[in-house]
Amino acid sequence: MRTANLSGRLVIVTGDETALDVEQASAGRFGPDPQGVYERWSEFRAWAADAELPAGRAFSAADLGSPAPAPRQILAVGLNYRAHAAESGFEEPDTLPPVFTKYASSITGPVSEVRLPEGGHTDWEVELVAVIGERAHRVDEDDAWLYIAGLTAGQDISERITQLQGPAPQFGLGKSYPGFTPMGPYLVTPDTLDDSDDLELGCSINGEEVQKARTRELIFSVPALVSRLSHILPLLPGDVLFTGTPAGVGLGRTPQRWLTDGDVLVSYVEGIGELRQTFQA
Ligand code: ZN
Repeated sequence: MRTANLSGRLVIVTGDETALDVEQASAGRFGPDPQGVYERWSEFRAWAADAELPAGRAFSAADLGSPAPAPRQILAVGLNYRAHAAESGFEEPDTLPPVFTKYASSITGPVSEVRLPEGGHTDWEVELVAVIGERAHRVDEDDAWLYIAGLTAGQDISERITQLQGPAPQFGLGKSYPGFTPMGPYLVTPDTLDDSDDLELGCSINGEEVQKARTRELIFSVPALVSRLSHILPLLPGDVLFTGTPAGVGLGRTPQRWLTDGDVLVSYVEGIGELRQTFQA
């Protein structure tokens, strides 16, 4: 199943750019709030599996919001692909990767315009994103997929000067300028994918490919991350987990490269879909 946030309302995606309003289709049993549904995710899944659903109506990708527009927690993971750890000049992590947050005010839908911070070095990081569907506290890695509502695509846009300045890094701030956390286009349940542990992801700038990898290359897989993080803090329904970016970011290039006025960044995760960000000075 694929769900989405269409103009602020929860929908089930029924085909190529056709969708069904959940509140209407369920005669009010489930509300329109795309974030609130994660509190009742297993009940919602069971209803959607049994319901006779009509075909839905056409929509435009420009009207999509984030499938998780207002999570209580956003956890983001660094250095989770070997080649990216190497290009960043770090050893690869062994017991736990670095974890930081992106503040929720930076969340947008999949198609957006992003204002470049003045004088900044704005960089790209395509990532697979997991959304939690059931409270996860101290869960085993073998069970961790059961706590995940679904997967989506994300960009962990990062302004490197803010991120790296000062006596200690400022990951949370450098990655939370307005529009720096686009997600979408859909939330795809793991059973919909051939192999939810091995998805191609990548991004391009103005048509030039800059990142391409597979999620089987993750040092800590999605279930490993959920298990290890859940042994420190409970992950709550609707929480968002950015799982780390592969090699090819601007920071790791010689010479370094940053996004500039007019650049179009297109990011994708196989089986999920595409994000499109246009940058403005
Ligand atoms: Zn990242």
